Amino acid sequence: MLEKYGKENVKFWFFDTLIEDESLYRFLDQCEDFLGITIERFSDGRNFWEVFRDERFIGNSRVPLCNRVLKRELLEKKLKHEFPFNNVILFLGYEYTETDRMEKAKFKWNEKGYDVSFPLASAPHQEKVDLINKLQKYGLEIPRLYDLGFKHNNCGGACVRAGINQWQLLLELFPERYLWHERQEQKIRNYLNKDVAILRDRTGGVTKPLTLRKLRLRTNGKNFLERGKK
Ligand code: SF4
Repeated sequence: MLEKYGKENVKFWFFDTLIEDESLYRFLDQCEDFLGITIERFSDGRNFWEVFRDERFIGNSRVPLCNRVLKRELLEKKLKHEFPFNNVILFLGYEYTETDRMEKAKFKWNEKGYDVSFPLASAPHQEKVDLINKLQKYGLEIPRLYDLGFKHNNCGGACVRAGINQWQLLLELFPERYLWHERQEQKIRNYLNKDVAILRDRTGGVTKPLTLRKLRLRTNGKNFLERGKK
């Protein structure tokens, strides 16, 4: 993008959810040094739990409210302010496999009058491992969540869109972080006085909320049993 459009015509924007993994913030700093650019950082001032409390709703994989409030709406506001005549192309970093997300994003932004492009998804298609190798070749350190087995490096591995497996991985690798989220969820449940949770339990053919606390107890209990068997 820099080569094609020139440094003076490209802006780099990062929408901070305030709970990203520290290796992501380091990665941004490294990219700035490597490319000789400034990444502008914006934030709503709230993390996703604070958004859920204010909106009186806990986001989940079907309704990722936080994504709308902390990223899309903030981006739209910035765009309207800086490019009131829509004379801008949005470059979004989806991979070629994320066809659904690209289609939705394209539709939504086109509807608002903005052009969208997905440089990481353009042909020839590159796997995530190729992209990572490329960055490493340039001496950029990959944000650690990828190496640790997280599919996405968002919200410090604690994304409301992620499933049970990723939350279990978070519990295993970052127990303090997991416990912090667990406490936030409990606080909101108490505040709303409702049986609501990020995750859902579908065992036995009945769907019900699965709190992070319940998942932790269940996971730790299972690990305990497995250790006992050895
Ligand atoms: S990464 Fe996940 S948890 Fe974070 S704002 Fe986006 S949808 Fe919400």
